[in-house]
Amino acid sequence: MSHRLVVIGAGYAGLLAAKRLARKLSRSDATVTLVNASDRFVERVRLHQVAAGQPLAAPSLRQQLSGTSVRLVVGRVTAIDTARRTVCTDAAPGALGYDTLVYAVGSQARFDDVPGAAEHADAVADLEQATRLRHRVAEIASGGTVAVVGGGLTGLETAAELAASHPGLRVRLFTGADDVGCGLAPRARTHLRRALDRLDVSVHPGTVIATVREDGLDTRDGTSFAADAVVWTTGFRAPELARAAGFATDESGRMLVDATLRSISHPEVYAIGDAAAGVSAGGAPSRMSCQTALPMGRGVAEVIAARLAGREPAPVRIPYAFTNISLGRRDGIVQFTHADDRPRRFVLTGRAAAAFKEAVIRSTVRSGPRRESGSDESDS
Ligand SMILES: Cc1cc2nc3c(=O)[nH]c(=O)nc-3n(C[C@H](O)[C@H](O)[C@H](O)COP(=O)(O)OP(=O)(O)OC[C@H]3O[C@@H](n4cnc5c(N)ncnc54)[C@H](O)[C@@H]3O)c2cc1C
Repeated sequence: MSHRLVVIGAGYAGLLAAKRLARKLSRSDATVTLVNASDRFVERVRLHQVAAGQPLAAPSLRQQLSGTSVRLVVGRVTAIDTARRTVCTDAAPGALGYDTLVYAVGSQARFDDVPGAAEHADAVADLEQATRLRHRVAEIASGGTVAVVGGGLTGLETAAELAASHPGLRVRLFTGADDVGCGLAPRARTHLRRALDRLDVSVHPGTVIATVREDGLDTRDGTSFAADAVVWTTGFRAPELARAAGFATDESGRMLVDATLRSISHPEVYAIGDAAAGVSAGGAPSRMSCQTALPMGRGVAEVIAARLAGREPAPVRIPYAFTNISLGRRDGIVQFTHADDRPRRFVLTGRAAAAFKEAVIRSTVRSGPRRESGSDESDS
């Protein structure tokens, strides 16, 4: 019987891994099945644009997989039975046996334990949330307020995009940190502050949110702010699936993997992308980003193919080179980084940075998950 490879999740990491596995292994040796919750490839890096009212092209996965031997199952995996080596799906076929499993389920919004956040706040972590937020924002009358909670990259991009697309709205950005852009080089940070100023985004540093209400939020120091929409961007966590199945995971639910992306608790299982807790080329913990997902997607296929051929694979390298932040469609920051993700002094700002980011995103999708070319691709 041929080896049964099952990949859960057709995002940047899983789609690339499935295609590359199918290309590297002959059909008689292995079957590759890709299970995804929807029949579309969603460019998550554009979801703040969706929230701001811009259209999103979500290409069909069947089209992306045409010409490959990958079998697509559209359905949500509800459980992994590691003893029986089976994944359970909420759609036909209901259960899928595997010999090797690749876990690539991405991440989701982390609503923390702040009372009211899960009930009243919106998010941009998946397409449904971003679409809901777009509708909510579209209904706010001019002069209304959107409160974005979280000063990380997603919060910054979301606040800037909403402010640029809806100049009639007041956008407030709340962060518990002392400032925005703390991980950036000084020039990038200065540019960020000026850009938020120009877009009229009011920044509230050092502000911890205690409660989210239907009509606003309360801070830990007792101040209340009215808001017509609250957007929660305090971070991402991996789905509960791995932890519930008994895999070794970190506190964010990411599967703990070794240098070949293999689960440290279940050697027949690999994890990639946001759902994996890996280590970068410079020794830093992997960051949830396309710059991690793509090398992991490519790398896991090399590792599995090597092991199936009886060879010991090389560790998978995750090289970090830059972080890019969009500030609306015409402004941005590219912060170049060392391999361990520490910022270099060199930064690109303004229109050039916005154009750089757009080019990177397009090339990521064109040459990464959409068309597995086997060449060296650039990452976002
Ligand atoms: C608004 C926003 C902006 C971002 N901007 C950037 C950026 O500029 N640069 C950057 O590098 N990163 C950015 N990111 C992060 C980036 O999108 C993620 O790191 C990346 O998508 C991770 O890829 P992945 O393949 O691991 O997961 P995903 O792209 O999330 O794909 C996971 C897939 O698994 C599927 N899935 C999940 N659970 C199940 C299940 N139980 N059963 C079946 N299928 C399932 C999902 O439907 C999805 O198709 C941004 C994220 C957001 C939300």
